[in-house]
Amino acid sequence: MLPPVDVTCPYCGEPLTLFVDDSAGAQSYVEDCHVCCRPMVVRVRVRVDGDGELDVSVDREDEA
Ligand SMILES: [Zn+2]
Repeated sequence: MLPPVDVTCPYCGEPLTLFVDDSAGAQSYVEDCHVCCRPMVVRVRVRVDGDGELDVSVDREDEA
């Protein structure tokens, strides 16, 4: 199951919807912004105090 997660591009500030593979657990990967095509580092953590909800953040690749 790939739940949609709303994030904001760290480069151009456009809202994006990512589909994160929650079966993979905590992970980080690079995904190109759908708007400006620059590489964002997507970090996924699973909230331990929730019901498996994902905590997703994005950063510029050059700050990772
Ligand atoms: Zn962008």
